[in-house]
Amino acid sequence: MAKFLDLIRSMLGMAKEAVNTEVSLFDLQMLLDQGYTTTRWIASFDPCEICQAMAGQEWNLREVIDSTQYFAPLFCRSHPNCRCEFEVTGPGLPPVRVNWQGIIQQ
Ligand SMILES: [Zn+2]
Ligand SMILES: [Zn+2]
Repeated sequence: MAKFLDLIRSMLGMAKEAVNTEVSLFDLQMLLDQGYTTTRWIASFDPCEICQAMAGQEWNLREVIDSTQYFAPLFCRSHPNCRCEFEVTGPGLPPVRVNWQGIIQQ
């Protein structure tokens, strides 16, 4: 019985993980409207292979937005629950960090 409960608990834990929905697209669109032009992939601490391979890569912000699926610019490039960030830059503008929840307030 204890084993069964552990199984249920782990399934609930997994379900909870899976509902993390990325919402950063909305903030990226706002930044584009403000004149931001470029994103750079900032890998999370201890990244997986997929994320490590993208570390430091730069993309045009508009292209990122146009090629995003499911409103999830980060997750659709790596995997669900990715903890990496975009550093978003533009001419004459202060760099902004965006993670799956949107702009990170410093
Ligand atoms: Zn990863
Ligand atoms: Zn990642």
